[in-house]
Amino acid sequence: YSPDLIRNFSIIAHIDHGKSTLADRLLELTGTIQKKKSGKNEQVLDKLKVERERGITVKAQTASMIHQHNGSGFLLNLIDTPGHVDFSWEVSRSLAACQGAVLLVDASQGVQAQSISVFHNAKERGLKIIPVLNKIDLPAAEPERIAEQMRATFGIDPSEILKISAKTGKGVQDVLDAIIERLPAPRGPKEAPLKAFLFDSFYDRYRGVISLINVQEGVLRKGDKIASYHTRKRYEVTDVGIMHPEEIPTQNLYPGQVGYIACNMKQSSEAHIGDTLYRVGSEVEPLAGFQPAKAMVFAGVFPVENSEFPKLEESINRLTLTDRSVTVQRESSAALGQGCRLGFLGTLHMDVFRQRLEDEYDSNVIITAPTVPYKIIFHDGREKLISNPTEFPETTDTAARVKEVQEPMVKATIIVPEEYVGELMELCFSHRADALEHRYLDAGAATASRIMINCLLPLSEIVTGFFDQLKSRSSGFASFDYEDAGYQSSDLAKMSFLLNAKPVDALALIVHRSAQEKVGRHWVKKLHQVIPRQLFEVPIQAAIGKKVIARETLKAMRADVTAGLYGGHYERKMKHLENQKESKRKMKRLGKVDLPQEAFFNLLSNK
Ligand code: GDP
Ligand code: MG
Repeated sequence: YSPDLIRNFSIIAHIDHGKSTLADRLLELTGTIQKKKSGKNEQVLDKLKVERERGITVKAQTASMIHQHNGSGFLLNLIDTPGHVDFSWEVSRSLAACQGAVLLVDASQGVQAQSISVFHNAKERGLKIIPVLNKIDLPAAEPERIAEQMRATFGIDPSEILKISAKTGKGVQDVLDAIIERLPAPRGPKEAPLKAFLFDSFYDRYRGVISLINVQEGVLRKGDKIASYHTRKRYEVTDVGIMHPEEIPTQNLYPGQVGYIACNMKQSSEAHIGDTLYRVGSEVEPLAGFQPAKAMVFAGVFPVENSEFPKLEESINRLTLTDRSVTVQRESSAALGQGCRLGFLGTLHMDVFRQRLEDEYDSNVIITAPTVPYKIIFHDGREKLISNPTEFPETTDTAARVKEVQEPMVKATIIVPEEYVGELMELCFSHRADALEHRYLDAGAATASRIMINCLLPLSEIVTGFFDQLKSRSSGFASFDYEDAGYQSSDLAKMSFLLNAKPVDALALIVHRSAQEKVGRHWVKKLHQVIPRQLFEVPIQAAIGKKVIARETLKAMRADVTAGLYGGHYERKMKHLENQKESKRKMKRLGKVDLPQEAFFNLLSNK
C-alpha cells in the first residue's frame, strides 16, 4: 500500500456513546470480521475479560481493514482508544499514531465531559476530526439540538456532522467514506531511513514481546536488524504484519502503516512506549515521544494469608506485563506483613487492576485506602514526593524542617442537566472545590438545558467515592472528567489509628485538617464494626500527633466463667470475676490485639 491509500484513525467518545459498537460495524462492513447472526454485539476490540464485564475499554487495541473506494482498495488502520479519564495516557499514545479521529456523540445524551477532553486531546495533536452523532435510532435522540450543542462547544460546522446508528448500521458506510475523503494520508517517504514509533506492546507466550508500531518513514521488512533509540539494544525482526483484527504476517510495513513486529525481545520492559526504532547503521532523530504515565493513586496490596506473598507477587508481575502503567514496589507492614505498593493512573484503573488481580491470583487481597502523591517541601529547598502515609513527616524534629506540604490538584469538568446544578455544586464545595464556574452548554434552548461546571479539586478528594456520589446525586445524569492541574499548598496532617494505644501502620491516612473529625469518626466506627472482640477492652482511637480525634471502645468478650454458679456460691463467683479481671489486665498490658487479616479485608473492601 502506498501511503496515499492508507488512513490511520481512532474513534474518540465519552464512555457508552458507542465506540466499540461502531468499531464492530466498521470491521463487519469491510469484511474483516463475520457479521454475527445473533445480532449480538461482539465488541471485538474489547479483548480483556474485565473490559467485557464492565463494558469499558482499558487497553488501546488496533485493527486494520481494507475498504474499496472509487475503485481503489484503501487500508484503514483503526486504533482504538480507552474512554475513561484514568486512561488519558493511553488515549494520547494511540492518537500519536493517527492523522484523524471520529468524534462520536450520543444523539440522546449530547456532549459529555469526556467528549470535551478527548476532543481537545485530538485537537492538540493536530488531528482532523470527523464529527458523528450516534444512536439516531433512539426515540430520545435529538440530532438537531445536539448538533447545535457541538457547534457551540467545539466550533464544529453542523453540516459536517454525520448522523448514524452504530447499532442498526445506518450511515456507517458514510463514516468509512468520510475517513477516506476527509482524513489526510500519512506522510512519510519510502526511501528515507527507517523510523518507526512504538506505541503499545503485549506479551505472547510463544513469541515473546509483540510490539505495535507505526512506521513513519522508510520500510520495515522481515529480517531487518533494528535498534531501539531508548535502550540502544539491537534486534532482528522475526515477524511483521498487520492486525486484521488478529495478526496477519505481511513481510513489510510501509510508511504510514500500523502493525505488529516480533523481534525476540525477551521482556516487556524492553519495549518502551514512545520509543523510536531505526535500522542498525542508519540512526535517525527520535520522534517526539510523550510523557510517561504518571501514577496518581497509590495503595498497598497484601495477601490475606501471609505465606501467600510469593504467589501474589508473581501474579502482580504477570499482570504488569500487560499493563505497564502500574508501578510496583515492595512494601512491608507491621500489621499486614509483606506486600506491594502499587501506583495507578486513577481509581478506576485501580479497580480494574484489582479485579484482574483477583481473577488471576484467585484469592482475596487486602488493598489499603488509596493515597495520592504529596509533595513535602523543606526549608532548605529540598522536595520529596511521598506515596505512602507512613513517610509523612511526623516527629517534631522533621516537622520543624518542613516548610509546607502540597497536594496534587485537578481541573474538573462536570456536565449536568440544569435541575441538578445546585446539588452538584454542593458536592464540589464539600470536596474543597475552588474557582468554581458554570455556564450553559445550549444557548437559549427551550428544553431542559445542560450546564458545564468547571472547578479545581484536590485529587485526594475524588479518589474515594466522589464519582459514585456524583452519579447518585444527579440520578446518573452527570458526567465527569478531569485533568492534571499541578500542586498546591495545603493544610494536611497524618492521621494514625491506634488499637490499644498501638498504631496500626497500614491504616494511616493523610487528611485535610478541615475534615479530620469526620474522617477520624468514620474510620473508628468502621474499625469498631470489624474487629473481633478481645478478652480485654480495646480502645480504638484516631489521632493526629498526640491528639486523639475520635474514639470508640471495643467491649471485652466475656468468658462465661460464672455460668452454673448460683446464690450461695457468691464468694466463688466474685473470686472468678476477680481472676478474670486480673488475667485481662495482664493481657492488656501485653497489649497484643489479635487483628485477623480478614478484619482488614472487611474494613477496606466494603466502601
Ligand atoms: P463505548 O463505551 O463507547 O465503547 O460504547 P459501546 O459500543 O459499548 O455502546 C454502549 C451501549 O450503547 C451499548 O449498550 C450499545 O449496544 C449501545 N449502542 C451503541 N450504538 C448504538 C446505537 O446506534 N443505537 C442504540 N440504540 N444503541 C447503541
Ligand atoms: Mg467500548
